[in-house]
Amino acid sequence: MPPSGIRYLEQGDACHPTLPYQAQGAAMAAEDGAVLGMLMGSVVERIDTQTDSLDATLGGLISESLYVYEDLRKAPTTANVNGALRNRGAFHMRDGIVQWMRDFVLGYSGMTRETDWIGLMSRRQSHTLSADPMQECKKRIGRA
Ligand SMILES: Cc1cc2nc3c(=O)[nH]c(=O)nc-3n(C[C@H](O)[C@H](O)[C@H](O)COP(=O)(O)OP(=O)(O)OC[C@H]3O[C@@H](n4cnc5c(N)ncnc54)[C@H](O)[C@@H]3O)c2cc1C
Repeated sequence: MPPSGIRYLEQGDACHPTLPYQAQGAAMAAEDGAVLGMLMGSVVERIDTQTDSLDATLGGLISESLYVYEDLRKAPTTANVNGALRNRGAFHMRDGIVQWMRDFVLGYSGMTRETDWIGLMSRRQSHTLSADPMQECKKRIGRA
């Protein structure tokens, strides 16, 4: 347990539960675990090169890594959860003028039930899907 600062860790659905309109909950949970694993691996490597008291050094390094973890994961997971919220609005419009306009635009642009929605959503989420959390983590710990 770190001697100060962050005293516990949440990841996956425990800290960023999301609506099922962007299909990214498991992806975010896996990314959280991968980033945390890389940070803890870095702690182990650094501890091997430390000469100070092991307990103090270990606690400090873990605490520092957990702050880095939060910093790396908060913005992308927040953007993802907000994207799912926006999708809910677009997918579940009440009948009315806005829904009519949505359907008109989709129909006018040639979209049907047979449209490649996965391809379309992937393009819309390209920023999220092309993000590379491991690379971001490597940059942060000076391994990129
Ligand atoms: C129907 C459905 C479809 C989905 N589709 C997608 C999709 O297409 N793409 C996508 O990315 N995500 C999808 N998700 C979301 C995804 O499943 C979750 O975001 C993901 O599983 C979260 O992983 P997690 O490890 O945080 O939590 P979980 O997978 O919920 O794991 C938590 C684990 O902790 C265990 N546990 C709970 N309490 C305790 C306890 N007290 N002691 C010990 N163990 C405990 C549970 O049994 C469970 O095994 C979908 C979810 C649902 C329900």
